[in-house]
Formats: sequence, structure tokens, C-alpha cells
Amino acid sequence: MYQYDVIVVGGGLAGLMTALGIAGRRRVALLSKVHPLRSHSLAAQGGINAALGNTPDGANDSWEKHAFDTIKGGDYLADQDAVETLCRRAPETVYELEHWGAPFSRTPDGRIAQRPFGGAGHPRTCYAADRTGHVLLHTLYERAQRQGLIVHSEWLVTSLAIKEGAVQGVIALPYETGAVSVFAAPIVVFATGGYGRVYRNSTNALINTGDGIALAYQSGIPIKDLEFVQFHPTTLFGSNILITEGARGEGGRLINRHGERFMRRYAEKLMELAPRDIVARGMATEISEGHGHDGAYLHLDLRHLGAARIKQRLPAIREIAMDFAGVDPVKDLVPVQPGQHYSMGGIDTNSCGETAVRGFYAAGECACVSVHGANRLGGNSLLETLVFGKVVAERLAETAIDRFPEPDASFLDSALQREKTRLQNLLERSGKILFAVIRDELRNVMTEKAGIYRDESGLKAALDAVRALKRKYENVGIRNKSSFFNFELINVIELQGMLDLSEIIVAGALNRQESRGSHFRTDYPKRDDAKWLKHTLARHTPEGPRLDFKEVTITRHAPQERTY
Ligand SMILES: Cc1cc2nc3c(=O)[nH]c(=O)nc-3n(C[C@H](O)[C@H](O)[C@H](O)COP(=O)(O)OP(=O)(O)OC[C@H]3O[C@@H](n4cnc5c(N)ncnc54)[C@H](O)[C@@H]3O)c2cc1C
Repeated sequence: MYQYDVIVVGGGLAGLMTALGIAGRRRVALLSKVHPLRSHSLAAQGGINAALGNTPDGANDSWEKHAFDTIKGGDYLADQDAVETLCRRAPETVYELEHWGAPFSRTPDGRIAQRPFGGAGHPRTCYAADRTGHVLLHTLYERAQRQGLIVHSEWLVTSLAIKEGAVQGVIALPYETGAVSVFAAPIVVFATGGYGRVYRNSTNALINTGDGIALAYQSGIPIKDLEFVQFHPTTLFGSNILITEGARGEGGRLINRHGERFMRRYAEKLMELAPRDIVARGMATEISEGHGHDGAYLHLDLRHLGAARIKQRLPAIREIAMDFAGVDPVKDLVPVQPGQHYSMGGIDTNSCGETAVRGFYAAGECACVSVHGANRLGGNSLLETLVFGKVVAERLAETAIDRFPEPDASFLDSALQREKTRLQNLLERSGKILFAVIRDELRNVMTEKAGIYRDESGLKAALDAVRALKRKYENVGIRNKSSFFNFELINVIELQGMLDLSEIIVAGALNRQESRGSHFRTDYPKRDDAKWLKHTLARHTPEGPRLDFKEVTITRHAPQERTY
């Protein structure tokens, strides 16, 4: 048994920021199913928002304007007190990362450069070319190494131990030996990222299977607003690798088969820089009405930006387009289509990252604080990981450790035995159905019936299909019986959580009879504040999620019509 004061699960930006904030004050260990530098945070391209006012167009920017844009962008579902924390603390957070060594791109006079992003009134997105996540994650990881942070890499957390409403630790499976162990701690923080891979066309890393959200759900913790799934407008046709919104921030244009800049019909003023839900819907409509190419994609035009600017500001985008689509944005059009990108919902937390279970916290994409409401603005997620990673660390540092009950060794021992038996039974299954068959069917159903456009009949069919797949999962077989690096077993474990999360997404979407942000019901195309200005909470029952609601916190901004 490993014993710590605090266990942080997740080596992305949220996990590292939390761990760094309490290392030295508490005995902390970080667990991650991949090496921290392989976390999805590394793939973030376009940037991180903070009202620094570093460009002439942004001189009058303020954290209050940032907060308003975020609340409006989220279609008024965000909790406004949490948004205020996010935006007020953004400048100090970006400067802190700069002081820790993050090499941001610069203005001619040497300040941190900022580019326009969707739904933002000013250029407010700080960036390091189009590799922002890469430089931020390396900055934090180097700092963690200098501080001697204990990291257990390639350990898959498979269950959360909770006794009488208080967390006791986690149980995890090391890839190398398969010898399942207990990590006892009175405090556990989940920073386990999103679930993008329950969809077929996703920009997310293959590891983004939503494990942490699913484990919390299976442990009885409420999950909030999971029906709000973000589809990014521009993913590369064929591979769905992300083409950052920064490409449109730099001036890129979207054009249909007739060469028309069609976004003027969907967002007259902001056009390509409207929030993502609006641009993605505009693109999906163009494609379904026959204005796309091969019924599947449209074009992003960057050619007018010129070779020098593309090479300086968007070097990785150019490489991706050349390597994965065989086109050079300097002289060619880039084929793009919308794809799943981000999870607005997640583990229900308050504005300090606390959950319904004592000692159990969540931060980053797996958490729903909620700062993004029904639709996240680009550049606000990296910010959320850092700000709320820090908020959780501060909360932990100010709370005396003896306020949390000591983990109960005999309880943990029996939890370990139960988990060993469960995983052994899974390994011994001789069913004929392969996990990949179920997983691919799930992805197809979610993409086709719980995607950008939704309606009652599609969602009902999706719910039936997901439930049928859950029954099929009971007969999943595992051919590889080894204990060492058994990725078939790992995939089977992850798939169970993916099925649960899909069921919550679909049930929430079916229940919510309105359109708000990323959730668009063709049979209820209007937002309905009288009935639906509330968060969805999903709680686990053996029959499926039981849905409930939670008030939205409104401080300064009463809901208005959302036009761009
Ligand atoms: C391609 C792409 C580009 C993006 N670009 C931007 C951008 O420019 N700006 C922006 O604001 N946002 C961007 N985002 C969103 C943003 O990058 C993510 O929301 C954010 O980085 C998530 O960070 P995180 O720390 O919450 O989780 P992640 O970085 O996803 O890390 C999750 C961690 O949890 C661990 N983990 C998960 N499950 C388990 C388990 N069962 N056991 C042990 N460990 C586990 C993983 O190993 C990993 O270390 C982008 C997202 C994508 C996909």
C-alpha cells in the first residue's frame, strides 16, 4: 500500500498545477495513465486567454469584459461567480507561467502577444505560435521535476475508495506488472481530462476516454451538464486533427463549394470568429445542404495571410496540413469539417473544486465548475486548468490535514481484494465480442445521433443503442491473458466508463427540451430560460442515470438574447 496526504490523478496542466501548488506542504503523489508529457494538454495549439491589453486593439480590455464574453459565449449557463474567479485571476496566472519560463510569442515591444479568438471582444488569447499547450506543459513538468514531485506514470486508476462520504484513496493498475495496488490518502484530486473518444470524429488523444468522470459517477458523485459537448469547427478532413481557431484568429476564412464566405449568413458581424457552437452549426448546415465537398467538408483559406505570417504564427498547422492532408496552406485550401473537441460538463464541483464527497476534488476538463456553461470559448480551457488547479491547491493548503479522516486500512484492504477479483474476472472472460467492435459502434451512434444537431427520435434511438451496447459489453471477451502491458484489458476497463458517460450525455440531451450553446435540438430550436436555465445533474442508479437539476449562479449578467 502506498500512503500519501494527497493523490492527484492526472499529469496534464490541471494535475501538475494542483500538485505544484501543494508540494512541499503536504506529501503529494501524482498518478497518470501515461507519462505526464503525453497528456492531452500537450496538444493545445491556439492559446490561453487573459485580459492583458497588450495589443492596440485590446488596450481597453478588462477582466470584466472577459467575464462577460465567457458568460454570453456559454449561453448564460455558466456559474458567474466561478467565471469571475477565472477571468480575474487570468492575468496573474499567465504572468506566473511566463516567470516560470513559458516562452510566449511576443509583440514588437517585447510583451506577451495576443490574438483574436472566437466570441471575444478584444484580442485576448496569449500564445506560443500554435504550440501553446506544449510549452505550458513542459514548463510545469520541468518545475515538477525540479521540486522532486513523486510521479507514478503508467498507472491506470480503476476505482475510487469512499467510506461514509469521505474519500480513502484510489486503486490503480500498473501497466508494467499488472499488480493492482492501493494508494491511501485522505485527499484525492481528479484532473483526468475529457471523454472525447466516445465520438468517432474527435480532436482528442486516444487516452481521452473520460475515466475520471466515469469513476466518480460509478461512486455515486453527481455529474453535471454532460449533454453539452463541444464540436470544433475546423478539424482536418480525414484525420480530424485540430486546426486551431488561431488560424481564423490570424484572419483565415471559411469558404464553401461555391467559394462563398458563408459565415456571413450565420453570424453577420463576427463571421468566422463567432463562438464555436455557431460556426460548427453553420458548417454542418452548409454540408448537409449540399454546399460542401463530397457531402463531408469545406475549406479553410489561409493563403492571403502570406507565407511569412503562416510560417511564424502557424508553423505546426502548416506541418499538419502538409503531412496529413498533402496540402500547403501557403498556396492550397485546407479541407476541414467539425469534430468533437471538448467536454463542458463533468464532475460537479463548487467554485473551489470540492465535490459531494469529503476530501475528493476535481479540476480541469474532467470537472464542471462551471465556467464554460453551454459552450466554451477558445482559450478558456487552458486557463481553467491553471486557475482552478491553483484554487484547489490553495484550498488544500489552507485546510488542516487532520480535518480529513485518516484512511481506514482494513476498509482499503477489502476494497483492494474486491477490485482484484473484479479485474481477474474481467481478464478471464471468454466472450466472443471484441471491445473494439462495441467501442466503434458506440462512436458511430454518438456521432450520428448525439452530435451537432439532435432531436427526440434520434436521441431515443441513441439511448436504446447505448443500452444495448452495455448489455453486449457483458459478453466482451479478452484474448490477451497476460499481466504485463495488457492494453486489451485496459481498453476493456476504459470502455465500461465510456458506455456510462455516453448514456448520461444522451439521457441529458433527450431530457433538455431546448437549444442552448452546443446543445441544439431541431425539435426545440429556441433557448427556454423559464424552464431550462438550470444545470443537469446525473446520478448513478443500476437502471441508468437519474436526472436532477441545480441552480445557475447569476451575479451581474441577466440572460439576454445571444447574437453575434
Ligand atoms: C487538439 C486540442 C487543442 C486544444 N487547444 C486548446 C487551446 O489552444 N486553448 C485552450 O484553452 N484549450 C485547448 N484545448 C483544450 C485543453 O487543451 C484541454 O481541455 C486541457 O488541456 C485539459 O487539461 P487537463 O489537465 O484537464 O487534462 P489532460 O491534459 O487531458 O490530462 C488528463 C490526465 O489524466 C490522466 N488520466 C486520465 N484517466 C486516468 C486514469 N484512469 N488513471 C490515471 N490517470 C488518468 C492522463 O494520463 C492525463 O495525464 C485543446 C484540446 C485539444 C484536444
